[in-house]
Amino acid sequence: MRRRNFFQSHISENWKAHRTVTVSSSLKNGSTKYFDFAVIGSGVAGLRYALEVAKHGTVAVITKAEPHESNTNYAQGGVSAVLCPSDSVESHMQDTIVAGAYLCDEETVRVVCTEGPDRIRELIAMGASFDHGEDGNLHLAREGGHSHHRIVHAADMTGKEIERALLEAVVNDPNIVVFKHHFAIDLLTFQVQNLYFV
Ligand SMILES: Cc1cc2nc3c(=O)[nH]c(=O)nc-3n(C[C@H](O)[C@H](O)[C@H](O)COP(=O)(O)OP(=O)(O)OC[C@H]3O[C@@H](n4cnc5c(N)ncnc54)[C@H](O)[C@@H]3O)c2cc1C
Repeated sequence: MRRRNFFQSHISENWKAHRTVTVSSSLKNGSTKYFDFAVIGSGVAGLRYALEVAKHGTVAVITKAEPHESNTNYAQGGVSAVLCPSDSVESHMQDTIVAGAYLCDEETVRVVCTEGPDRIRELIAMGASFDHGEDGNLHLAREGGHSHHRIVHAADMTGKEIERALLEAVVNDPNIVVFKHHFAIDLLTFQVQNLYFV
């Protein structure tokens, strides 16, 4: 939660000071469009970030292929989160640290394990449909390295479902425009005072 609060307050306090202006020269009619935020990539990270900052301004999502083309779209097994009463964040953390051969940054593990359940609920609220068991609750699979059942999944195409739901939310957000088949390397950037031009 700490990280989320930082993320949100960081955006709301600083976005005006670091306003990003995106100029697209590739619009067919030769017009120029201006955006407050430029996001590179349309996987789960880029789309989720775009939806968050779209609450504060206009967003250009720049992605090198079709919008759905990403590692996210091919993720299979699912997402681990503590959603069962007999499970605990401490147990999830311990499993993660052991599976990571004690090389993980403990604070990062803590944030991910603590925030995971809320992020899953957010995805569901955005329209992601995960498998349910006969009891009507989310079906939680158990995978290697996990001491509890905690893998939320949509059959074995979990990433495809997450990508679908996020893209649908992005398409329905009037503040977001997706520029497909645009490579980051093609962007020209320059700065004048507080304005960043792309
Ligand atoms: C086969 C497979 C199975 C997996 N299974 C799981 C699983 O079960 N559970 C799990 O948690 N994780 C799984 N993963 C890992 C998971 O998919 C990734 O960690 C996650 O999707 C990464 O998301 P991302 O948004 O950071 O990156 P991506 O989803 O890869 O998105 C990157 C985006 O950036 C764009 N891009 C890249 N370079 C440029 C450029 N130069 N210019 C413009 N755009 C660019 C890409 O087109 C893409 O849209 C799996 C991955 C694979 C491949």
